Amino acid sequence: MEEAESSAKGASLDGGLFGDGLVSAPAATTKGKRRGSGPKGPPVRRIRVLLPLPLDTPGGGAYDYSVPNGTPLPELGSFVAVPLGGREMLGVVWDGEPDPNLPEGRLRDILGILPAPPMKEALRRFVEWVAAYTLSPPGAVLRMAMSVPSALEPPGQQAGWKLSAAGEAAKEGAPGYRMTAQRRRVLEVMTPGEPRAGADIADEAGVSTGVLRGLAEAGLIEPALLPRPRSFARPDPGHPGPYLADDQEAAAAALRETVAKRAFGVTLLAGVTGSGKTEVYLDAVAECLRQGRQALVLLPEIALSAQWLDRFKARFGCAPALWHSELSGRLRRATWRAVADGEVGVLVGARSALFLPFPDLGLIIVDEEHETAFKQEDGVIYHARDMAVVRARMAEATCVLVSATPSLETLTNAEQGRYSALNLPSRHGSAGLPEVEVLDLRKVPPERGRFISPPLIEAITETLARGEQAMLFLNRRGYAPMTLCRTCGHRIRCPNCTAWLVEHRAQRRLQCHHCGHAEPIPPHCPECGAEGSLTAIGPGVERVQEEASQLFPDARRFVMASDTIPGPAAAAEAARMIADREVDLLIGTQIVAKGWHFPHLTLVGVVDADLGLAGGDLRAAERTVQLLHQVAGRAGRAESPGRVLLQSWNPEHPVMHALISGDLPAFMAEEAEARRPGGWPPFGRLAALIVSSEDERAADRVARDLGLAAPGGEGVQVLGPAPAPLAMLRGRHRRRLLLKARRDVAVQPLLRSWLSRVEVPNAVRVQVDVDPVSFL
Ligand code: ADP
Ligand code: ZN
Repeated sequence: MEEAESSAKGASLDGGLFGDGLVSAPAATTKGKRRGSGPKGPPVRRIRVLLPLPLDTPGGGAYDYSVPNGTPLPELGSFVAVPLGGREMLGVVWDGEPDPNLPEGRLRDILGILPAPPMKEALRRFVEWVAAYTLSPPGAVLRMAMSVPSALEPPGQQAGWKLSAAGEAAKEGAPGYRMTAQRRRVLEVMTPGEPRAGADIADEAGVSTGVLRGLAEAGLIEPALLPRPRSFARPDPGHPGPYLADDQEAAAAALRETVAKRAFGVTLLAGVTGSGKTEVYLDAVAECLRQGRQALVLLPEIALSAQWLDRFKARFGCAPALWHSELSGRLRRATWRAVADGEVGVLVGARSALFLPFPDLGLIIVDEEHETAFKQEDGVIYHARDMAVVRARMAEATCVLVSATPSLETLTNAEQGRYSALNLPSRHGSAGLPEVEVLDLRKVPPERGRFISPPLIEAITETLARGEQAMLFLNRRGYAPMTLCRTCGHRIRCPNCTAWLVEHRAQRRLQCHHCGHAEPIPPHCPECGAEGSLTAIGPGVERVQEEASQLFPDARRFVMASDTIPGPAAAAEAARMIADREVDLLIGTQIVAKGWHFPHLTLVGVVDADLGLAGGDLRAAERTVQLLHQVAGRAGRAESPGRVLLQSWNPEHPVMHALISGDLPAFMAEEAEARRPGGWPPFGRLAALIVSSEDERAADRVARDLGLAAPGGEGVQVLGPAPAPLAMLRGRHRRRLLLKARRDVAVQPLLRSWLSRVEVPNAVRVQVDVDPVSFL
């Protein structure tokens, strides 16, 4: 699921925050008036306030303010309301000396102190650290730590709307009310007897709040107090958990001991798929709770975590707090506040949860630490796995990185002794690891125009005949990745991006998977006009499903892709259907690779095992092994043995060898040896500059200037500028430069002085990506 949490939305005030709880200046003080007039009073008290704004000013968004007489001096980390230009903003009282030379006449008074727990030093240091590391303005990072400004309001009862008797009648379709499509949508999203916040209603119905006012005037809705947000149950560490197997208990004991030290430390928890790593780290969570501290669990795709949540409930007797982009506004506010108040014991979240205001964080778990979903690619560009380690260090907490297929970065850190390492070598219970075979497509090709080879068809047939489940994996959404005109050779591309449009046949549309552009499938070639000449090239999951429907007409088939599983509820229902054997043949994209436990699934067929290797970057082989190993790990997790068939045109590739042998450590050792001599990560550092503009020449000019101003010297090299593989994205032309440096070189100062040497016009954006994961 995409996150949309870093927007500035709501960071400024509409006067709404000046409720009862605000410790404000005396009534006589004019809001934010300038100092320096009037009789001489006591010396003015100055403070620094960091504002949640992505300002590239020298202070990075910090400004000096004065505290009016009669207002207590706010402590560091306090949330304060301040004037900025003609606006009112919320900010945080920040460390550092105010400038004593700033004339009093230029200082403005703060407007008040908000009744919320001040931001802890550990989080303030983290904000600064992330800003410095990613070369972002501190204000931009603070914005992520203040993503719910309304949570700073006094937690009083709030007003919303409920359906009136007339509204309930109108909702049921009673005639006589003046209805518009917008009004009807509002009534649809409201439930009789359940008041909701106006903003929530407007959001869900997709209308403005004006529509609500209109409905109120028409008597269809009426004001109502909202119930207090539910409080967060504290998970009970004494709740009986499963009896751990010996190797699990050994690992759990080591983690408990680390957590009990209440000091910083990082541990890699590795172990084959299905070895029971989750139960082990939940034991560390229990220890953290016993210590009276808070625990944070980061999952790469929280929307796909229904099974995980069930296990958590089984272990602790209640659900954890959740943090992801689909939380409603109210729950988001309540959660943020409950975290800040120390009420939340365990929170499970997406990467942005790192910026929540935990007052006493004792443990951070990063599950599936190898996942690229932990990398945030826009706004402040950061890797949540790496920042989790930093967050833990600032909070004197334990960080546990968990994976069956750890990244080379983490393995190297463990090898070099920076991280401790624990390993679970076998599957839990009687389950063995699945047997992996490669199907050489040169020898056993599928029929013309088909994508499933005869041996794979046979294996599926046998599996289904035994009453077991099979899965077909292809990491590509839609029907076909390209549409070609057989008459003129034209291929249909996105008007905004360097990308082919992907056919989604069920929706009769062509879609760009980069910018979201969509258009109907044209009846004839847009280039030469030939009728019936457009052909789908290559498979996506929809096409595999079509083929499967012909091959296995009696099997109950189910497609799992991010566009067919839109949210947490759909994912939970899908998992239930599969676990309850309502599905025989599962067809899916990478979302089927995620931690699922489907006991009746015994066969996994990978339609195109070579897919991730094409046009690959630095980590293409590593990522392919990780993904396919995780996919393979879905097979045979209970009593019946599992089998995995990989279709490949390139069966001799080291990736296929690694998957067949299952010897991932040997593969990773080879990867390390391939990267070490050239100084590629993790044996060297990378930082990318991405120059983009709607104006191609402007982008080229800045890219060229950056190239000319590139830093050099011992152990530093700059590659580029060159057009990015995605040379055009969302209508912007893109150029890339890559800085490669030895590990002992601090790249941030180099980058900073490099960027300062080049003038960048407004029409051009230069993004800095330290430790890039994507090279597109
Ligand atoms: P991993 O995270 O290593 O892939 P899981 O934690 O998902 O493995 O465990 C695999 C399966 O084994 C799950 O169904 C889990 O509930 C079960 N399991 C793990 N440990 C135990 C235990 N100690 N007792 C009972 N069941 C367990
Ligand atoms: Zn596009």
